[in-house]
Amino acid sequence: MHIKELDYLSPATLAEACGLLHSGGPGAKVFAGGTDILPDLKRGRVNAASLISLAGLDGLKKIEKRNSTQPHPSTLYPLPSTLFLGPLVTPDALDRSALVREIFPGLSEAAASMAANQVRGLATLGGNLCSAVPSADLPPSLLTAEAELVLTARDGERRLALKDFFLGPRKTALRLEEILTGILIPELPRGTGTAYDKFQARDASALAIVGAAARLTVKDNKIVKALVAIGACAPTPLLIAAAGEFLAGKEPSGQNFARAGELAAQAIKPISDLRGSAQYRREICRVLTIRVLKRAFERA
Ligand SMILES: Cc1cc2nc3c(=O)[nH]c(=O)nc-3n(C[C@H](O)[C@H](O)[C@H](O)COP(=O)(O)OP(=O)(O)OC[C@H]3O[C@@H](n4cnc5c(N)ncnc54)[C@H](O)[C@@H]3O)c2cc1C
Repeated sequence: MHIKELDYLSPATLAEACGLLHSGGPGAKVFAGGTDILPDLKRGRVNAASLISLAGLDGLKKIEKRNSTQPHPSTLYPLPSTLFLGPLVTPDALDRSALVREIFPGLSEAAASMAANQVRGLATLGGNLCSAVPSADLPPSLLTAEAELVLTARDGERRLALKDFFLGPRKTALRLEEILTGILIPELPRGTGTAYDKFQARDASALAIVGAAARLTVKDNKIVKALVAIGACAPTPLLIAAAGEFLAGKEPSGQNFARAGELAAQAIKPISDLRGSAQYRREICRVLTIRVLKRAFERA
């Protein structure tokens, strides 16, 4: 199998990239690290006439704290500060970032769990989201972060909550002419802990059979807010509302985490495939949910 000849374009500005995406029509595809799109082109899963590389857009490689001015959908008022992640940030950079480790260790764990070194230094956060592969490692943690996406086209930008982004396997709400230009994580309240764990068939470089992320905010030994998200167990990564609702207001106890694990196992819609049966995935999901809740609590 080989890739048919196509144009590789290297815009120097975001405006230029948006213009090229507009003028290229459906045959123009965004190219970030290439670790998903190149195999897809080879297998004929994706057709492209041109690849628009984002590599020259340094503004999309940043990890930084920013003051927010726009209302966040979950609070309807601007939060004092936001963690901005550029879509070109690699899993390696996420894992090594002191800021990410401090604010959202669950996301560092998810990035560290991805692939082998070569892929971790090439792949990007934006590509991981836009590929919308159900087993992707970064979406569950970002769902528990209540992350927002900035989507930019030639005629302007819009914000979209990550929970509304995934529509199905390899399907997202990204419009043809849009580029994902930022991932925003609202400030987490004091007393919040986060964690991610993944079950895979071997120690490294394997896709998740189940991925689980948790975020807990605890005050005076009561859970103020809990979010659990599961990957690889449904057509899209899933926020498990029943687990979060059950835990809110309760004590952070082993018994309550065990019940949340059962609720997560009931809420997922796993398939049986080469990597595991649906029943196996439910059991792993239950166990991983308990594990990440305990770890998030230890960090809260
Ligand atoms: C050997 C190997 C191991 C892997 N292991 C893992 C793993 O353990 N866990 C895991 O989650 N994934 C894994 N992957 C999958 C892959 O590396 C990730 O999904 C990666 O994050 C994709 O990023 P990329 O920059 O390479 O995307 P690309 O291949 O460049 O792009 C992927 C898709 O997203 C679109 N896109 C990319 N960036 C943007 C943007 N900013 N705006 C709009 N559209 C965009 C592209 O047009 C394309 O459709 C593995 C891949 C390989 C080859």
